[in-house]
Amino acid sequence: MLTNEYLKRVYEGVEKRDGHEPEFLQAVREVFESLELVIDKHPEWEENSLLERFVEPERVVEFRVPWVDDNGKVQVNRGYRVQFNSAIGPYKGGLRFHPSVNLSVIKFLGFEQILKNSLTTLPMGGGKGGSDFDPKGKSDGEVMRFCQSFMTELYRHIGQFTDTPAGDIGVGAREIGYMFGQYKRIVDRFEGGVLTGKGIPYGGSLARTQATGFGVCYFSVEALKHLRNDSYEGKTVIVSGSGNVAQYCAQKVTAFGGKVVAMSDSKGYVYDPNGINLDVLFDIKQRRRARISVYADEVPGSEYHEGCKNIWNVKCDIAHPCASQNEMDAEGAQALVDNGCMAVFEGANMPLTPEAIEIVKSNGLLYSPGKASNAGGVATSGLEMSQNSIRMSWSFDEVDEKLHGIMKNIYKACYDASVECGRPGDLMLGANVAGFLKVANAMLAQGVV
Ligand code: NDP
Repeated sequence: MLTNEYLKRVYEGVEKRDGHEPEFLQAVREVFESLELVIDKHPEWEENSLLERFVEPERVVEFRVPWVDDNGKVQVNRGYRVQFNSAIGPYKGGLRFHPSVNLSVIKFLGFEQILKNSLTTLPMGGGKGGSDFDPKGKSDGEVMRFCQSFMTELYRHIGQFTDTPAGDIGVGAREIGYMFGQYKRIVDRFEGGVLTGKGIPYGGSLARTQATGFGVCYFSVEALKHLRNDSYEGKTVIVSGSGNVAQYCAQKVTAFGGKVVAMSDSKGYVYDPNGINLDVLFDIKQRRRARISVYADEVPGSEYHEGCKNIWNVKCDIAHPCASQNEMDAEGAQALVDNGCMAVFEGANMPLTPEAIEIVKSNGLLYSPGKASNAGGVATSGLEMSQNSIRMSWSFDEVDEKLHGIMKNIYKACYDASVECGRPGDLMLGANVAGFLKVANAMLAQGVV
């Protein structure tokens, strides 16, 4: 419940203007609830209408994306880029291709991205984009033609010093490659820093593919050690999803001595009491681009269950939601609590509903929001841009070591802010406050823009 008058007033304004954007409202509300604890110390925010500016994107671009399918038929999708906040650097944030994409989803992701990028300590503002295009079931040629058409409009809004997109759901190395090729062709310039997540031969960074998932685990290791004097060793773990973030989160959990017993896709989940065989999973998802149900057909002793939300009924010590927003509701969170789970560290963006967060926190589980624990992806995108600028490539170990250091620092920043707010260990509060303070100071210093 918001009690501060200024926060209440601004939030009501957002509700009035953007009431039809539920995901965006959810993200704003969570941050405002955290700011309740510090707002009394900052009268300058209200004096400068800072929060009114903070919740309004600097620019929203929405455009038509026409393309021709393999049958020669013209298809039309909708493209978006929300350039939310550039106070601390050029807009930065991924592109999502998924049928569920709409302005509310892109605005919530862009809003979260502002605070996440701030936490990395790298100079990156917040933005996000995408399309309701579904790459699933499309041929490579169709995906290429879509990406080229998408970039034919997007190119005029981006650039290494303005806005630098990356991947997200449905956008991996293949899609980034097609978009980078089209950008280069249009502007007639090899501008490496304009997109991140590029292939290694043309300016990508080693360890970028693994970075988000690995980063989730580096962050979690810090929290487990510092707040519980514990580790992954011997723990049973659920990793929801089976895409980029989930795959490398599961790999690192396993390397740290945990056992991943369940993973999912949007149709259902697999349970393997012996621990998910990652070679099989990677082959199914990366090479064959097939459903996760195939895993149960091929690995003896494993089971497939329809319905991805039921994954939270599996007994575990640690849960990593790594699929999509609002994938865990109150029921899922309660199931984790009832089964003795000790921690939920998010890999996806906003995967827990507000009710699920409340259940997890009030039952004393460790909890970290995606904007802190999944920031390793964008941080390594920042490292990719650094390598592009200095025209050098660092080794996998060099990038991984930098990523590890950044995740440790993010944990510390969140923890320190939670202490300053009088709630030691409330990492959601810490992430929101630490991320916001830096952006707020930069906005104040730059005047009314
Ligand atoms: P991918 O497209 O690689 O994988 C997404 C996975 O989530 C797939 O297993 C997909 O299943 C599943 N999924 C997608 N939508 C839903 C849904 N509505 N309900 C249940 N499952 C769903 O995406 P990423 O791994 O890149 O992204 C996963 C999450 O992590 C997202 O929230 C993203 O914003 C966040 N993130 C990603 C970063 C990155 O570097 N890639 C960085 C930081 C955050 P299916 O194949 O059946 O659709």
